[in-house]
Order: sequence, then C-alpha cells, then structure tokens
Amino acid sequence: MARRGKNSKRSSGKRKRATRKISSLGDLCPRCNALCCRYITYQIKTPKYDVDFDEIRWFLCHEGVCVYVDEGKWHLQVSTNCKKLTPGGRCTIYENRPEVCRDHGTEEDCEFTGPVDVELCFHTPEAFDRWTRENYRFVRI
Ligand code: SF4
Ligand code: SF4
Repeated sequence: MARRGKNSKRSSGKRKRATRKISSLGDLCPRCNALCCRYITYQIKTPKYDVDFDEIRWFLCHEGVCVYVDEGKWHLQVSTNCKKLTPGGRCTIYENRPEVCRDHGTEEDCEFTGPVDVELCFHTPEAFDRWTRENYRFVRI
C-alpha cells in the first residue's frame, strides 16, 4: 500500500487521502493500531537514465519497499515501525513528535478509513520492469 507525501514542497511525509473526509480522528486512532506510524516515505528523482531505472529495481528487490508516483512525483516507501511507538500503538514522544506527524491525522489524510489513490505503485522489480518495457523502450533492463 502506498502513502502520499504531505504536499509538493516536502520531500517526505505521510500519506494523504483526498477521497473521503473525516471530521474527527479521536474515535479512529485507538482502533487502527497506528497505521501511520509504520512506514517512512521519501521523494526520489524521476527516473530518466538507465541508472535511475536500475536503482529503482534495486529498491524493489527489498522486503517492505514499494515505489509510487503521486502527483507526478516519485517516492520510495519503506515499511518500518517507528521506534517511538509502544506495543499498544501509542506515541511515547507525542508532545515532541516530528512536524510530519503533527501534520498528519487531520481531516482527509488518515489511511485507516480507506485506500489511497496514486498514479503508479510498484511492489516488485518484475512489475516495474514490465511497466518500464511498455513505456520506456530505450531503457536497457
Ligand atoms: S491518524 Fe489515522 S492512521 Fe494514524 S493512528 Fe489515527 S486513525 Fe490510525
Ligand atoms: S514519532 Fe510518534 S506520531 Fe510520529 S511516527 Fe513515531 S510514534 Fe507515530
């Protein structure tokens, strides 16, 4: 599952939903076990040269990694639990949590309530190779 960055100026962020609005997360957070605290995502360069495509193939050879495109921007996502999360899904640094965490969880950007729309999402190098062959015939893969 892919997450979306917070906005076009940030290079990293948590997923942002645009399809369904929720008015309050107070009831949802205790039930979802902190989905938004179990990954990191980072904007990467748009592949242009053989080496860029090959690098993405390398990313996708790893467990817990996906690469997605959202609003024309390419992102790497890695599934990993935040070290500040308790087994019960609570943040142990809530008062001092990073800005990206503060920005998340308001109105439409919670991933608990439904899937996210992204333009492209790859979970395996094979899927990425297929897409590359269909769209970038000049790339040597
Ligand atoms: S903001 Fe959404 S994804 Fe994050 S803990 Fe609350 S309900 Fe879960
Ligand atoms: S710092 Fe807290 S809010 Fe941010 S990802 Fe970690 S557990 Fe979640």
